[in-house]
Amino acid sequence: MNATNVGYLVHLAFIVGAALFVVGLHLMNSPATARTGNRVSATGMIIAVAAEIAFVAEGQVGIGNWLIIAGGLLVGGGLGLRMARTVAMTQMPQLVSLFNAVGGGAAALLAISDFIALDGLRVLAGGAPGLDGWRSLFILADVIVGSVTFTGSLIASAKLMGLIRGRPILIPFGRIVSWFVVVCGLSVSIVLILAGMGIVTYDVNVLYLLLAVALTCALVFGMLMVLPIGGADMPVVISLLNAFTGTAVSMAGFVVGNVMLIVAGALVGASGAILTRLMATAMNRSIGNILVGGFGAAEGTQAAFTSEDGSVREVSVDDAAIQLAYASKVIIVPGYGLAVAQAQHGVRELADLLEARGIEVSYAIHPVAGRMPGHMNVLLAEANVPYPQLREMEEINPEFERTDVALVVGANDVTNPAARADRSSPIFGMPILDVDKARSIIVMKRSMGRGYAGIDNPLYLNPKTGMYFADAKKGLQQLVAAVKAL
Ligand code: NDP
Repeated sequence: MNATNVGYLVHLAFIVGAALFVVGLHLMNSPATARTGNRVSATGMIIAVAAEIAFVAEGQVGIGNWLIIAGGLLVGGGLGLRMARTVAMTQMPQLVSLFNAVGGGAAALLAISDFIALDGLRVLAGGAPGLDGWRSLFILADVIVGSVTFTGSLIASAKLMGLIRGRPILIPFGRIVSWFVVVCGLSVSIVLILAGMGIVTYDVNVLYLLLAVALTCALVFGMLMVLPIGGADMPVVISLLNAFTGTAVSMAGFVVGNVMLIVAGALVGASGAILTRLMATAMNRSIGNILVGGFGAAEGTQAAFTSEDGSVREVSVDDAAIQLAYASKVIIVPGYGLAVAQAQHGVRELADLLEARGIEVSYAIHPVAGRMPGHMNVLLAEANVPYPQLREMEEINPEFERTDVALVVGANDVTNPAARADRSSPIFGMPILDVDKARSIIVMKRSMGRGYAGIDNPLYLNPKTGMYFADAKKGLQQLVAAVKAL
């Protein structure tokens, strides 16, 4: 086959791959079809990688390059497979964040290598107006967005892993330093783009130096951007960094002239941006407000409950079982604690038992319950909870008033009524599940411990609330046994 035909076939394969990405994304709209969507998208990626390898092969690549390609595939693919197989559901956000870092870093490296391959864009320095200005624009956008994503995602991941403090870290004069690196990085980038357009001319070594300054500014800015963010804002930041990764990959596509990278990056960038917006809306916060940061910085400043605030009523497993077994409508509210305890099968067993007694059971899913978007959906799907029973926040909230028992399992922040009523609360304005409107409430958790946002929950002092202190897995097992015994 001649080179032109291979070129056509490769482009055809890219179109097929891109179409599969779009179909796969569409299938991910519903938990019922999400697994198929994942497989369809993976097939698209296999086709794209195979086509790219065929394209490279046509260009008579030396054996050294084949070794690098094969080594990269083996090491990267092997590590990815191992991590995806061994990661616990609760560690998924930090894994996603690490993948974001890898994606952003790879895109930035690609741009830097392009810069070096062209000997500091020697052509630019010599001046080739109109043509290479665009290329230097994409290279710089790629280096900057990719590097910001790289360090930002590493910090986000370290925060979620507990390697550094999860709460906002406010650096002295942080804002001023941030502004300095932004202004410095942008100025240098503009100079490089002007050099690309042939408007100014510099020695190659100066161009290298300027690129190094732009790179350093972007790396520092990524850190400064994420360090002051904490508490309940982390999911939005991870999603935003995901959008950045997509943008950087798309820019890398322009740099190396690869349509597939442009399309895949644009899809990730656009879907990440949409998800970021949806999540910020779900928390009633603007993205600018999140990035300005400082949420939850006032750690420990909120006074803990005193006896004047009310008292906590504890319920025994038998009391809880009786309330549930004689209800006609029960809503289960899962949260992070359910995921940590791996109690999804227990909750399903309890729901089955209650349904067998003719009780209407549904699950209230808050968009940021758990530690990543869709955490509860994935967890409950693993226990084969029927999808129609999973109800989104807007849909289920009006039903709490007609609910006999709301059973909260390891959820805290997403049920905190202070978000609705207390203007001084750090989570004021964040939409919550209206659990307090149910006729009675059972909260299953181990202690009076706080949630991710680190604030007290007045729901626990509500006279309608009974606290069932237990690990979610063990507590549910005991509850199931108690309901069976009735
Ligand atoms: P929270 O973090 O508010 O609360 C979880 C509760 O689970 C804790 O109060 C803890 O109480 C309890 N718990 C922990 N382990 C167990 C266990 N083994 N058995 C029973 N209970 C347990 O979780 P929510 O799901 O309500 O809220 C999610 C929070 O996390 C929000 O603030 C959200 O913004 C944030 N977040 C969400 C992300 C997302 O994308 N969804 C990502 C990152 C953060 P105790 O110790 O007393 O048992």
